[in-house]
Amino acid sequence: MISPPQAEALIQHHMPRWGVRSVPLREAAGAVLRETVVADRDLPPYDRVTMDGVAMAYAAWQGGCRRFRLEGVVAAGQQAPALHDPATSVLQVMTGAMLPAGADTIVPVEQCRISGDQVDIDAAAQVAPLQFLHSQGSDRRQGDRVLAEGVRLCAPHCTIAAAVGRPTLKVSARPPIAIISTGDELKPVEAAVGPHQIRSANDVGLRAALQGAGFGDIETFHVPDDPQATRDLLARLLPAFGVLIATGGVSMGRHDYVPAALQELGVKQHFHKVSQKPGKPMWFGTYQGAVPVFGLPGNPVSTLVCLHRYVVPALALAQGAAEGPEAVVQLDSPVRFPWPLTGYLPVRLTWAGTGECRAHPLTTNTSGDFAALSGSDGFVELPPGKELFVAGEVLRYYAWQ
Ligand code: AMP
Ligand code: MG
Repeated sequence: MISPPQAEALIQHHMPRWGVRSVPLREAAGAVLRETVVADRDLPPYDRVTMDGVAMAYAAWQGGCRRFRLEGVVAAGQQAPALHDPATSVLQVMTGAMLPAGADTIVPVEQCRISGDQVDIDAAAQVAPLQFLHSQGSDRRQGDRVLAEGVRLCAPHCTIAAAVGRPTLKVSARPPIAIISTGDELKPVEAAVGPHQIRSANDVGLRAALQGAGFGDIETFHVPDDPQATRDLLARLLPAFGVLIATGGVSMGRHDYVPAALQELGVKQHFHKVSQKPGKPMWFGTYQGAVPVFGLPGNPVSTLVCLHRYVVPALALAQGAAEGPEAVVQLDSPVRFPWPLTGYLPVRLTWAGTGECRAHPLTTNTSGDFAALSGSDGFVELPPGKELFVAGEVLRYYAWQ
């Protein structure tokens, strides 16, 4: 049986790399940027006033002038007129306005007495040259890179793209994803359930996680425990979707038909079973080198762990997402894990007053106790080879999407 790092490496090796599409900026959040975005002009594009006040020439203040003539008012959005007589005059300016030519200093309105066209500046005012100005190009110059290829676009990135005049962006393609739940015992959430039945929950959780990871084109299917029905459904989905994620039906039980059906349909198996708990029956293959197929174990905890441990990073890779730093956290209390496998343990994060992030292990009733996940933020990876993990141990962390 292979280890989780080996499984991860096989997935990385066989994942396709998706192409590029152009999207309207308003639909770009969550997508992976596939171009470098540069400033179309200086940022800020003009000397921007950052305080309501009057704009003056510092030389006039330095020369001892305290009473000025008011030449007019400049608001944000107006092309600023030049200060005609910088030695004796000022212009009133609003936050966000363009600095008038001839002025180089703003005195806050609170330090001015304005009556009619006369302005008296408080004798005690502290005035420094260039104060309350955000100078043209002081943040970025025209042509400077403002967004790097590979970022997953979130609010600041979208703000920046808008500010540099990009109504469309090149982002990674996101092929449609099929989620397939398997099992005779499953009923949809809105249906009545008999005493021998359970509600199909994994497909709902998988969809939530994929949406959280920035995917929108997701369809859900269900197939009973029947080899022919399993083959028929998979045969229909393989040519129509970019990714298939099955849940359940991948163990060694008599009714686990997914691996055999996939292989009969020409999906090349890269691994089946990983030395981990939960999630051991995990299956992975590719169809025609282009469609990755993930067979996740049916136990809801296993399904979610395998999705976050393997599928979400694989989809990020296929989109060309830049790799972030590996998230690690410290355990806040000891954990015993007496199996010779890699363990995955749900945790709740807490922040110590010192700023350290600690992971509090959650006790679950059984490995199938998915209700215990409600208080968790994610899970940690317990490497194999030891039974006791002490408080303070640094472990890899995966956040729920
Ligand atoms: P399997 O891997 O098909 O043997 O399923 C293992 C366990 O997970 C069984 O108890 C199933 O009932 C449960 N299970 C499988 N699929 C789902 C699902 N879609 N929603 C909730 N539980 C499931
Ligand atoms: Mg099953």
